[in-house]
Amino acid sequence: MQENRKALVQEICQILEDKKAENIEVFNLSETDYFVDFVVITTALIDRHALALLDALKKPLKEKGESFYHIDDENPEWIVVDLGDIIVHIFTENQRKKFNLEEFLQKILKQKELLMYNPLNTEEQRVILHKGTEAPFSGEYENFFKKGVYVCKQCNTPLYESTSKFHSGCGWPSFDACIQGAIKEQLDADGRRTEIICAKCGGHLGHIFFGEGFTEKNTRHCVNSIALIFNGE
Ligand SMILES: [Zn+2]
Repeated sequence: MQENRKALVQEICQILEDKKAENIEVFNLSETDYFVDFVVITTALIDRHALALLDALKKPLKEKGESFYHIDDENPEWIVVDLGDIIVHIFTENQRKKFNLEEFLQKILKQKELLMYNPLNTEEQRVILHKGTEAPFSGEYENFFKKGVYVCKQCNTPLYESTSKFHSGCGWPSFDACIQGAIKEQLDADGRRTEIICAKCGGHLGHIFFGEGFTEKNTRHCVNSIALIFNGE
């Protein structure tokens, strides 16, 4: 797979070179934590040349079955072609000087995450994004014990098995364990409690308490129903 992508990057560079693009640079990020494997950067003479370079790329790549995740050509001084794991930037010289790879990758990462997440309604946003709490005994899963898996409302990551759920009577769904690695704990803004968030998307779930003696694990994940989606077996 990686070799295929390398070959494609070479092909992209070749097309750019044939069309007289200048200063072609390739960043291989596949060994890093970045969410793209390759970034190709090149300079066009003027914006019309940049648009011509974009056209020259589109046809052969489409013929190869490549899908374009996004093409930003509104400003021909800086065209971005996003193939998902490969991003090509076509700049005019002035724009290239202003470009900061690190900054750009952070920005795109945020956009991609937002696109991948489920849209949230106002109440879901209040709880999940702004760390609110649903009213006790009001949530869908407070008194609910079907077999299945609870996933994150925002990003669909599996968080809790129904086998970990127990009835605490506290007013919110209670679990004595999460699916390994699915949850992150952090000190709550109140400086006392421990907040739990989805490890993948950072969405607020609720709080975790220890030593209450409800179950053998002596742990209670106190989770807002609204932050979860139940998938039955
Ligand atoms: Zn999530």
